[in-house]
Amino acid sequence: MSTEKSASAELKEKLFNNRKNGRLVADEKTLQLTDEYCEGYKQFLDAAKTEREAVKTAIRMAEDKGFVAFERGKKYQAGDKVYINNRGKTVAFAVIGEEDVENGVNITAAHIDSPRLDLKPNPLYEELELALFKTHYYGGIRKYQWPTVPLALHGAFAKKDGSVVEVSIGEQADEPKFVVNDLLPHLAKEQSKRTLSEGIQGEELNILIGSHPFKDDAGSELVKLNIMKLLNEKYDIVEEDFLSAELEAVPAVGACDIGFDRTMIGAYGQDDRVCAYPALTAVLNVKNPKHTALAILTDKEEIGSCGNTGLESDFLRFVIRDLAMMQGGDGTVALRNSKCLSADVNAAMDPTFQGPFERRNASKLNYGVVLTKYTGARGKAGTSDASAEYTAEIRSLLDRENIIWQSGELGKVDEGGGGTVAQYIANLGVDVIDLGVPVLSMHAPFETTAKLDVYMCYRAMYEFMK
Ligand code: MN
Ligand code: MN
Repeated sequence: MSTEKSASAELKEKLFNNRKNGRLVADEKTLQLTDEYCEGYKQFLDAAKTEREAVKTAIRMAEDKGFVAFERGKKYQAGDKVYINNRGKTVAFAVIGEEDVENGVNITAAHIDSPRLDLKPNPLYEELELALFKTHYYGGIRKYQWPTVPLALHGAFAKKDGSVVEVSIGEQADEPKFVVNDLLPHLAKEQSKRTLSEGIQGEELNILIGSHPFKDDAGSELVKLNIMKLLNEKYDIVEEDFLSAELEAVPAVGACDIGFDRTMIGAYGQDDRVCAYPALTAVLNVKNPKHTALAILTDKEEIGSCGNTGLESDFLRFVIRDLAMMQGGDGTVALRNSKCLSADVNAAMDPTFQGPFERRNASKLNYGVVLTKYTGARGKAGTSDASAEYTAEIRSLLDRENIIWQSGELGKVDEGGGGTVAQYIANLGVDVIDLGVPVLSMHAPFETTAKLDVYMCYRAMYEFMK
């Protein structure tokens, strides 16, 4: 066979969009670095299953690299590394640049909250001599996926005396786990007539937590009483303390490799820790950047970025303002000169469920980090839609640094859609585009990503901020 290319093959190579599977493009060294990087990512996933734990873990990692808590009024020099902790749920890390902050900051933003089952303010009850917790799901879940999955409980009780008792139970091998139960198929005739979205209803997501009655006393609620006694001994709380608690039930399953070839990762909460970890590790590795580099890991994205720890709040605006003011600069000018990669996941095309995807524009596992010009639903509702100019700038950066990347959209036009934090950052006058990792089974108790895409996300974040 001739090795000479035909004229059409040559012209196609020159003119067509010829994206290939990243595992065919990447060299051995890159694949090795990918595997090494993802070992750290899996550890992060297991250490940071909630926004509170993610902030703690991230700050610990940052302090190991010389980051210190930012003090307003203090003057920092180029190369200095600081962090700003917003209520233990959102955190920003910055490396001061050589240029004035007013000349613009390179921002990466990812979220560290994930869909889960929150406990209600009055969660504890007894029914048929079993103790259970009532839950209120957080974020967009497909409710039928959550029963019969082993669950762990994470969070904190804030007590009236001002103390906070942290909770993490169900992750260690010797710790008990919890579970939402479901009907057996033999007796599910009526339930099976429900639609998939109604298959399990919100008020049926009740978590089983105990079955031992306190004593053979006369009286009711003896199982509940015994659970309260155990909780009192372990956490020094009474039932009313649930009113000021934030307890989150998450799958009690650790991150692991997927596939005989170990090319993928399965874990809970990869949306959006699969972008938060790259943004974090990128800013931790940045040294002496020209422009100030800033990575923000935010809470509340899954329920609309609301509240004082969500990105619709003024937190980011004030972080940039404080950094600019320290040099006598103007925060508003700094924001207008700033650029951002909004790092969130994209829906990877699923070989079994291809229907809702438009294959010419859908992202695929192993094709690298996904650049998403716009998200939104139907007629692009709720998207910030990056400009062609800014999209070109990022495309150029990715190609220049040999980063494997692809473009993506969120499904067929009329199929649904979604949004990210990009729109709230765009509201500040910042140039912003979505860039992130494609995910299978997004928002399920166990999500799947490809290692190469995760590593390419890190490389994109790093090259953008360095
Ligand atoms: Mn997300
Ligand atoms: Mn999400």
